[in-house]
Amino acid sequence: MKSLGNIKPFENKVWLSSPTMHGDELKYMKEAFDTNWMSTVGKNINEVERVVAEIVGCKYAVALSSGTAALHMATKLAGERLYGQAKPYEGTLRGHKVFCSDMTFGATVNPVAYEDGEAVFIDTEYDTWNMDPVALEKAFEIYPDVRLIVVAHLYGTPGKIDEIKKIADEHNALIIEDAAESFGATYKGKETGSFGGYNAISMNGNKILTGSSGGIFLTDSKDDADKVRKWSTQSREDAPWYQHEEIGYNYRMSNVIAGVIRGQLPYLQTHIDQKRSIYERYKEGLKDLPVKMNPYDEKSSVPNFWLSCMIIDEGAMSPMVRGDQEYLYQSVPGKTNPHEILEMLAVINAEGRPIWKPMHMQPIFRTNPFVTVEGNGRGRTNAYISGGSIDVGKDIFNRGLCLPSDNKMTVEEQDRIIDIIHRCFE
Ligand SMILES: *Cc1c(COP(=O)(O)O)cnc(C)c1O
Repeated sequence: MKSLGNIKPFENKVWLSSPTMHGDELKYMKEAFDTNWMSTVGKNINEVERVVAEIVGCKYAVALSSGTAALHMATKLAGERLYGQAKPYEGTLRGHKVFCSDMTFGATVNPVAYEDGEAVFIDTEYDTWNMDPVALEKAFEIYPDVRLIVVAHLYGTPGKIDEIKKIADEHNALIIEDAAESFGATYKGKETGSFGGYNAISMNGNKILTGSSGGIFLTDSKDDADKVRKWSTQSREDAPWYQHEEIGYNYRMSNVIAGVIRGQLPYLQTHIDQKRSIYERYKEGLKDLPVKMNPYDEKSSVPNFWLSCMIIDEGAMSPMVRGDQEYLYQSVPGKTNPHEILEMLAVINAEGRPIWKPMHMQPIFRTNPFVTVEGNGRGRTNAYISGGSIDVGKDIFNRGLCLPSDNKMTVEEQDRIIDIIHRCFE
């Protein structure tokens, strides 16, 4: 580690991204209490569904217990639509391959496994840190029968949607959009979460808006929205008794949690503006260093700037190695690495985080295929390419990190964080 100099630690921790409440959340929670709709039915749920569908521009929204539940329902529906109804003990994907974003949170791809599918990871591009359309095209050359693509917008930055949609259309494939992190972000004037056949948003505690937990499933298909309503409430048939003709789930959102989200929804733009200012201040404050911020295409996209991230230029990286659970680095004058910066941030009581570790590097997915632009994509190509520079996800993971991005962080606090990052390069 480098010297802190005279920089003082924060008395109160500066978080990566923590909930920001405004007051109305409590009013709507109390309304649920006072009217005794302490259940998975009620006005808050109806309002959340109405408003989120309106914001995103999808016809139907179904409020669920988590973003993961929304992605599970999306994945299950996609499997049923593509491959027909499964047997009760089978997932709807039953052995079929699914092209998935590689550099994302595990919840993007776990539902593929819940439904007995096999995720094929598609490498990342440097322009937006999302699924690389060139690698996707290549994946269709290798696996022409694939019909489903799960694509995430990392850190609130829209991916290359037009290119991905074009490839999907050419191969008659369905898209599931994981907009868990990108609520409010737009691509060519349209909201993320409106481009896929089925889409998901998360209201988890660290997201741009939160209900403490929660998720929203989105689609333009009434039949599919109705199906998710049924599946998520234990698949009860319309009968006088509990009648079950399909496997059920208990995935519906609580009306109390919906009250929190209902109170948060009017503040979406406020939060985006705050997060954007944080991003711009980092960009300005770090511009003299050999680093870059997480990029986006200014012509096509307006991110929600959920997390500000940076990547260290290759030439400014000090030696660093990572095992499965631990790391080692050498502190070198004039250079640094993500862990040195994260440790320095921790010393002043600020929370950063490594870049989401790509799925193809995760032990649980070690046997899944991974397709890069130059690798042959069959089996464990990542072992072969790890010596080169064409594993983009691995490269961003090695050189990048997420900076404290809490919208309650003051300018003074952020300045101190920027100072600390400068010290890391001394
Ligand atoms: C948070 C997140 C999810 C899961 O949402 P939960 O509400 O926590 O279940 C899924 N995908 C991505 C990319 C996320 O960041």
